[in-house]
Amino acid sequence: MLAMKETCEKCTSSLLPTGTAYICSYECTFCESCNEDELKEVCPNCNGNLVLRPKRIEKPK
Ligand SMILES: [Zn+2]
Ligand SMILES: [Zn+2]
Repeated sequence: MLAMKETCEKCTSSLLPTGTAYICSYECTFCESCNEDELKEVCPNCNGNLVLRPKRIEKPK
């Protein structure tokens, strides 16, 4: 299962599983503002492309 990292790897701001975040195929995780301002959909760690992370909505119990 996809690891849902809770912080941006660049600015360390917290990310909610239900909020907007960007990931690469190695699960490097970044917030929306880092992506828009600097990364431009390219992962700075592995040069892969960043895509919108699927939101994880808790399953009803
Ligand atoms: Zn960030
Ligand atoms: Zn990466």
